[in-house]
Amino acid sequence: MTGSVPVSDFTLDDLPDGRIFVAGTFRQGQGAEIESRFPADGSLNRVMREAGEQDVDDAIAAARLAVEDAHWRDLLPHQRADYLYRIARGLADNVERIAFIQSRDTGKTLKETRALAMSAASTFRYFAAALETMEEAITPARGPWMTLSRFEPIGVVAAITPWNSPIASDAQKVAPALAAGNAVILKPATWSPLVGLEFARIVAEAGLPPGLLSVLPGGGHTVGDRLVSDPAIGRISFTGGTKVGHAIAEKAARRLVPVSLELGGKSPTIVLPDADLDQALAGILYGMFSSSGQSCIAGSRLFIHSSIYDSFLERLVAATRALKVGHPFDPATQVAPLIHPTHVANVARWVDIARAEGGRVLVGGAAPDGAEYAQGNYYLPTIIDGVGNSATICREEVFGPVLVALPFETDADVIAMANDNQYGLACGVWTRDIVRALAIGRAVTTGTVWINTYKQFSISTPFGADKESGMGREKGLEGLRAYMRQKSYYIDTVHQVIPWAGITAG
Ligand code: NAD
Repeated sequence: MTGSVPVSDFTLDDLPDGRIFVAGTFRQGQGAEIESRFPADGSLNRVMREAGEQDVDDAIAAARLAVEDAHWRDLLPHQRADYLYRIARGLADNVERIAFIQSRDTGKTLKETRALAMSAASTFRYFAAALETMEEAITPARGPWMTLSRFEPIGVVAAITPWNSPIASDAQKVAPALAAGNAVILKPATWSPLVGLEFARIVAEAGLPPGLLSVLPGGGHTVGDRLVSDPAIGRISFTGGTKVGHAIAEKAARRLVPVSLELGGKSPTIVLPDADLDQALAGILYGMFSSSGQSCIAGSRLFIHSSIYDSFLERLVAATRALKVGHPFDPATQVAPLIHPTHVANVARWVDIARAEGGRVLVGGAAPDGAEYAQGNYYLPTIIDGVGNSATICREEVFGPVLVALPFETDADVIAMANDNQYGLACGVWTRDIVRALAIGRAVTTGTVWINTYKQFSISTPFGADKESGMGREKGLEGLRAYMRQKSYYIDTVHQVIPWAGITAG
């Protein structure tokens, strides 16, 4: 970064004022004081109060009433879809403002936060269309009945999201939950409390009846735990770390409440010798270092075939060194600051552990030098090699810009190493041999396989994971039905009197 700090058309006055959104009304939270700071320079965005116990209870009580209100409950799918279309338009009309708020809140580049805001709008549009066109089934009758399989709302849904891509992960839960006819209580993370409140403003302006959405930024052990434990919550949708996911799943199991978990990852990327190496290089850089590596699906374990290991790694290291680390508002920036000083310290600690276990840091491995970085949460894109697949850096999620490279000899070896990890989120394969790529895809236990591309998404394609990376699917029709209760109806079609009690037809 050179010269003056880039500016935006928006100012701090455009940030939400920090009041939380409880059942259609913005009000001061009753919980602890929290701060949102700009990761690029540590300057204050807002001091606000997170949600407190009473806020959670009020939101749940209002949600229960709203979901039973005939105005909402009796809407036909196309009528309910209309609310989602209006929210989609509101999001699309406010992309620049949302992007500014999210970049101030999380430090992500404006380019990225614009894309996330647009993806939130498309998510609402997609689920509106999916709702309008979703079919229920007449199942094959095995008696004198018509048998129907129908989908009905669950009731009140808790949606708990992390700080790394808030508006997109919020929309991914709130849109299908509302489409399915539920009320939703969204709990954003305390490190990124503001963008969810802007989302609430847009939803309120779209005219969604009060009570159907509350947005309660707050701590996991306070707001999150209270939501997970409340008997009124009929479904929990969680995105976050694996440890917290386990704790939530255990609590949900005690109440037999359905839960979906989108958790951590340590995704393998495999480069075969016949790959288009320019294409692979570009995809690997994007898949690892965009979002500054703060991405669950970051391709953080790179397996390169031994015949091209040295030459490809050399190119990768040079290209990584050339990445532009800088201010989130600078259009040239590729790697922006991390979310929080504590998170930078965590990332640095993983790199120290890798060094202690014999890893060679080929590039990065420190904060960048320079006055322009001094106040921000910057960490250089980092590549490590020289360790085996059992090293800590190969096993644990760093959730920052740190890639570890390993050589392999055969497809069988690389499949075994790819699967030898607790996580099962995603995998990338780079090769011109599609049959070989599909065979590797079948053999790896991950929710997504990208072939000659990486970190690409479609709202109409289900997303989810295996092993410690989670369970359940978001997006696609499955993502809508996940928020519905499936119910079977048997309707007599011949006016049959069941003979068992000896009663005859009148
Ligand atoms: P985190 O698990 O610490 O927090 C996630 C959310 O859960 C936050 O809102 C937090 O306040 C809340 N929470 C924490 N403890 C809780 C509790 N006991 N009860 C209820 N809620 C609680 O994760 P994070 O640091 O915010 O996010 C990073 C993690 O999220 C990484 O592991 C990343 O891989 C994962 N993630 C996964 C996906 C995916 O789709 N698989 C997407 C994005 C992020």
